[in-house]
Amino acid sequence: MADPSLISSVTEMNDKFLGDIKCPYKLYIADSRMSGAGFGIFVREEVPAGKEVFRVAVPTVSAVESAVDVCDNCFAWVGSNDPFRAPIELSVCGSCKAVKYCSKGCQRAAWRRYHKEEYKIYREINAHARKAKEFSSAIRMLVRLVVLHQHRRLTDKQWQAILSLKSHKALIEQSKALD
Ligand SMILES: [Zn+2]
Ligand SMILES: [Zn+2]
Repeated sequence: MADPSLISSVTEMNDKFLGDIKCPYKLYIADSRMSGAGFGIFVREEVPAGKEVFRVAVPTVSAVESAVDVCDNCFAWVGSNDPFRAPIELSVCGSCKAVKYCSKGCQRAAWRRYHKEEYKIYREINAHARKAKEFSSAIRMLVRLVVLHQHRRLTDKQWQAILSLKSHKALIEQSKALD
């Protein structure tokens, strides 16, 4: 039986998720016209180049590719030449070696939110692997989501938003079959 708490239509998604976003433009969620791109957020009017559309203070979940020099918590990038900031130095998390942080503050914030549970998963996997494994950002994001959900650190609204994402399972299976 279908879960009645699941969002069944795009109209419902628009009502539920866009109400809280502060934005000078009229936003709407729709199926993208790009094939296979899934749902996206669109604006109704033309936005001048370089204008900010909206800003999310803290994303529900994020993960940075391990190979790039970006803080996994605040996305500070080593290569940015912001004159108002001291040069960015990243340190690799000693517990899992999978994430980098720009400061003790970022490391602490990530630790509290999900890393104290998630690092054990990577450590456990690597304890059984012959060579330390590299985890893609997509995998790390899924692990993070499960940790956040299991420990009830997501609001109902956030979890519903995730459940209402379009599934690409059929596409993935199709591409696997072609390999
Ligand atoms: Zn940071
Ligand atoms: Zn770690």
